[in-house]
Amino acid sequence: MASQWVDMRDMKFLIHEVFKIDELLGKAPYEDHDSDMIDMVLTEAEKLTENEIAPTYPDEVNRKPVEARFENGNVYAPESYKRLWQLYAEGGWLGTSDPYDVGGQGLPFIVSAAAANMFLSGNQAFLMYPGLTHGAARLVYDFFQHPLRDITLQKMFDGSWAGTMCLTEPGAGSDVGALKSTAKRNPDGTFSITGTKSFISAGDHDLTENIIHPVLARIEGDPNGTKGISIFVVPKIRYNEDGTLGEPNDVSTGNIESKMGIHGNATCTLNFGENGKCIGYLMGEEREGMKVMFHMMNEERQGVGMMGVGMSTAAYLHALSYAKERMQGVNIMNMKDPNAPQVPIIQHPDVRRMLIKMKSMTEAIRALGFYCYYVMDRRAAAVDDAEKDKWQGIMEVITPIVKSYCTDVGDDVTKIAIQTYGGYGFCREYPVEQMARDNKINTIYEGTNGIQALDLLGRKLGMKKGLYFMNLLGETQAEIAKAKNSENFKEEAAIVENALNKCAETAMTFSSLIRSNPFIPLISAYDYLNCLSEALCGWFHIWMANVATEKLAANPGEKDKAFYTGKIEGAKFYINRTTALVPAKCETLVKDEISAMRIPDEAFAV
Ligand SMILES: Cc1cc2nc3c(=O)[nH]c(=O)nc-3n(C[C@H](O)[C@H](O)[C@H](O)COP(=O)(O)OP(=O)(O)OC[C@H]3O[C@@H](n4cnc5c(N)ncnc54)[C@H](O)[C@@H]3O)c2cc1C
Repeated sequence: MASQWVDMRDMKFLIHEVFKIDELLGKAPYEDHDSDMIDMVLTEAEKLTENEIAPTYPDEVNRKPVEARFENGNVYAPESYKRLWQLYAEGGWLGTSDPYDVGGQGLPFIVSAAAANMFLSGNQAFLMYPGLTHGAARLVYDFFQHPLRDITLQKMFDGSWAGTMCLTEPGAGSDVGALKSTAKRNPDGTFSITGTKSFISAGDHDLTENIIHPVLARIEGDPNGTKGISIFVVPKIRYNEDGTLGEPNDVSTGNIESKMGIHGNATCTLNFGENGKCIGYLMGEEREGMKVMFHMMNEERQGVGMMGVGMSTAAYLHALSYAKERMQGVNIMNMKDPNAPQVPIIQHPDVRRMLIKMKSMTEAIRALGFYCYYVMDRRAAAVDDAEKDKWQGIMEVITPIVKSYCTDVGDDVTKIAIQTYGGYGFCREYPVEQMARDNKINTIYEGTNGIQALDLLGRKLGMKKGLYFMNLLGETQAEIAKAKNSENFKEEAAIVENALNKCAETAMTFSSLIRSNPFIPLISAYDYLNCLSEALCGWFHIWMANVATEKLAANPGEKDKAFYTGKIEGAKFYINRTTALVPAKCETLVKDEISAMRIPDEAFAV
């Protein structure tokens, strides 16, 4: 039976045939890796997903919840996660693309993306524990200049200790600059940390003996707003340079949230320094906390985008498998025959519409997500600073798009999957309703998708006077030009080109409107992000279809023939039904229509 968690063929297609990562192998920084090794790593990730991670997915077994628990001030992860954590750490997955000096495997970033796609399909709530640990460890690697640095890295990368990300406070969510946590200087150079952080994922648990919290706080006397924020390494338990643990560090858990989804992940309220005994160590420079944290936030935002890809993959593959088995109704060609046999629902045109929609959307966001990691590989392999800067810039522009669009599509696909199942999809007996609940948070944390849109419009598109955005658009040209010369794809190529041009034009209009009528771009930012995503995903579909067309011409075996045909039909569906609408939508976004601002507060509901 085909997998319901892993789409290995499509991932290998992206890695080897579309992004041609093999061209970067055997040379710095990937001189130690070859194609076979990458496939071997992917196979191991697949085995871990299928055999170990996915079986722990249900958040209810025999009507009993599988969830993180809070008892007597202590937090317990679901029992089944303990073995997963051990396997994950032993398998080296905490450092897939990390440098050798911390025990990493130094593999291309796109391989990490593929592994993440699989693991996240298998169980997002679990993956958040190692995911946050990795993000926090990378901050320590890049910014923690302290005698405790080496042991911290060793313990985090070998899985002995975990990590978190502590920004949010009850009164400071999207508005991080409003935080109230403080840091008071101590004579020995450490800081005493006081404050409450809310919604901290994996904030406490019993998977590891210690937890490292990167905490944003304001040093006493520093200015208000984001410019006055610093960042500190705050351990749950103090430790020495040899890794031996000392006394608890006055970090306590107030409660864990009762949530709509990701029940296995402990979302904690953490109190720092209630007894005045919480010690933190400065990371990076004073008042540069936001700059430092943005490193982790970029990684986490890309990672959250991959969560949307993971959930879409699992939901689509489950729905596809169900549609092949569920017998209901007769084939449309036999509808007048009362004795016609029931057929699997995959034969009904409307079900096929749902399936191809899920397929083409999931494959579009997988390409978008993987592209972001491919861009990081190109940056890593760049031969000079100018090339490095080009890829870094493209990554900056694409990050809010990956975070927002992949997770919104995750919402759409999980809902269509429920619809495909019919009534059973609404029931806990099948996993797709859980997937819809689990994915919802992905559109909210790491900066809501609304905030991502403001980041794209207000910061990213204008970076280096628009050069990075232009570089991204420049990258789209070669594949579009190729498709324009193809009989089969010239119409779709024109649609994608038109959509991208319209997005560029709309961005220019917004940049002039921001001075004369800022409400138009501000109200439209979120829809604009989606338009640009749909245009870019049209480009990815063109790119994939170009490759598939070439491969089909070489007369491949039956299985590959089916795969490449699927890529071509998926591309046609997505481009004609989604990308084609972008220019019309862009037209509406720049109209002088600001009823959202004109309407008085009391008129929203009377
Ligand atoms: C399960 C879960 C796990 C989480 N994990 C972590 C974690 O590990 N670490 C961490 O630090 N935080 C974490 N968070 C917090 C999360 O990042 C915040 O919830 C999120 O950033 C939004 O903040 P808020 O909830 O305070 O909403 P608010 O900031 O109050 O936003 C409410 C609404 O207003 C909109 N809004 C707010 N300000 C603006 C603005 N200026 N312009 C336009 N729209 C605006 C938002 O988009 C949103 O729609 C987690 C949250 C949850 C629920």
